[in-house]
Amino acid sequence: MSSAMDTVTEENMAISMALHGGLGVLHRNCSYERQLEMCRIVKRARSFVIDDVATINPNAKVSKAKFMMENYNISGIVVTNDEKKVCGIFTKRDIPFFEQDIKNGAIKDYMTKDVISIKPGASREDALKILYESRKEKLPIIDENGFLKGLITKKDLAPEFPLASKDEEGHLLCGMALSPKFPESSQAKEILKEIDNYVDIFFIDVADFYKKDDIEGTIKLMKFLESDFVLGNIGTYQAAEYLMTKVDFVEERFIGLKVGMGSGSICTTSQQTGVGAPTLFATAQVADAIQDYNPKLSLIADGGFKNPGDLPKAFAAGADLIMSGHFFAGTDESPGFIDTIAGRKVKVYRGMGSKEARTSGYISDRYVEGSKMLTEGVSNYVPYVGDVLGVLATLKEGLANGMIYAGAECIKEMKKASLGIVSVVGQRETAPHDLIGKF
Ligand code: 5GP
Repeated sequence: MSSAMDTVTEENMAISMALHGGLGVLHRNCSYERQLEMCRIVKRARSFVIDDVATINPNAKVSKAKFMMENYNISGIVVTNDEKKVCGIFTKRDIPFFEQDIKNGAIKDYMTKDVISIKPGASREDALKILYESRKEKLPIIDENGFLKGLITKKDLAPEFPLASKDEEGHLLCGMALSPKFPESSQAKEILKEIDNYVDIFFIDVADFYKKDDIEGTIKLMKFLESDFVLGNIGTYQAAEYLMTKVDFVEERFIGLKVGMGSGSICTTSQQTGVGAPTLFATAQVADAIQDYNPKLSLIADGGFKNPGDLPKAFAAGADLIMSGHFFAGTDESPGFIDTIAGRKVKVYRGMGSKEARTSGYISDRYVEGSKMLTEGVSNYVPYVGDVLGVLATLKEGLANGMIYAGAECIKEMKKASLGIVSVVGQRETAPHDLIGKF
C-alpha cells in the first residue's frame, strides 16, 4: 500500500497501485471537496463500464466530433437526440475523407444508425460475446426507453491488468485517510457521505490512535458511513487488546489495524517526544493480540521500510500487508515535480508532521492538537526512481526470493518463518563490506 501522504498518494498513485494489485490510500491534507474529486477519479478510472459517456447531437458538425475525439482521446461518440435518446454512433472510421465534408457535414449524415447495444446490468461475458460477434469496438448500454446508461469498450474488457485490485463492479479499489474528528458542519457531512459512495476503505489517520476523543469520533464516523475502516496507528499489544475488546466499534466494518509509530523515514516523533513503536516491534506486538482476540483483522505494517528485504521480515513478524511512503515518493505517479540536485534527479518527500505539511491546517489533528512549535516530521528529497511498476517489480522479487529461502508458498505461510535478532556486528557483516569502491 502507498501511504496517505501529500507527496505520495493522490489519484495517479492510487490508480497505479490498484491497477498493479496494491492499494493507494489517498491523503487528507486537503479539503473534503478535493478528497471527493480524487476518489471519484480513482473509481471512474478503470472499469468495464464507462459512466461519463461523451455524446453529441445528430445536427452537430463533424468537425466538432473530430475535435472531441482528439481532445478527449476517444475513438467514438454516442449520438443522442434532443430527448437524450440514442440515435446513432459516430467513430473515427466514420469521419469523412474530404476536409470540406469534415468542416460542414452533419453527424447525422455520417453516423452509424443501426447501433448494436446491450441492456443495463449485462455481464462482462455477455458484452464480450456481442462485441466479438459484431466485430465492434464499442457497445452502448441502452435501457428499454432508449436512454443511454453507459458504454462498454473492448479495450476496457481486455484483462490488461490481471492483478488489479477491483470491487465487485470492476472499479478499482480506493482507500482514503480520514480524520477521526466527526465533521460539524452539515455541508461537510454531506460531502463525506458522497465520498463514502466511492471509497472502499477509510483509514483513520493519526499518529497515535489511543485518545478518547479520537476513539469516540471514530465510533460516530463508523455509524455514519458505510465503507470499511482500518484504525491506526498503534504500537503495542495493550492498545490492540483495548481496541478489540473494550470499544464498541461497528464490528463487521472494523477490518484492520495499522501499526508503527515514529519509524517513518521522514518522521521525528520518537526524537521529539520520546514516544514510539518501531514498525517491526509494533507488528510483532499487535500480531499477537490479533491472534488472541480477533484473527479476522488484517494487520498493516506501516513505515520504516528501506529495502525489499524488509518485506519478508514484516510478514514473518505477523503483517498481512505493508505500507510505505518512502518506496513510492520518488516515482512518476507521486505528486510534485522532478528536480535536480547535484546532478541527481529527485522528488520532494515530506512528513505529514513537518512544518511544511502542517501549515495547511487540514492535518493538524494527526498529532497532539494545539501543539504548534513541535514538528514531528521533516521535508526532504528522495531519488527519482521511475514508475511504480518498476518499484513494485523490485519489491516483489525481493519478497518472493525471501519467501523461497524461508520455504513459504504464500504470505500467510511467512508468519511461520523464524526470526532472529542480529547484533550490530552481524548487521555489518550482512551488508557489503571491506571493499574499495563506494556503494
Ligand atoms: P516511510 O515509508 O517514509 O518510512 O514511512 C511512511 C509512514 O510514516 C506513513 O505511512 C505514516 O504512517 C508515517 N508518517 C508520515 N508522515 C509522518 C510524520 O511527519 N510524522 C510521523 N510520526 N509519522 C509520519
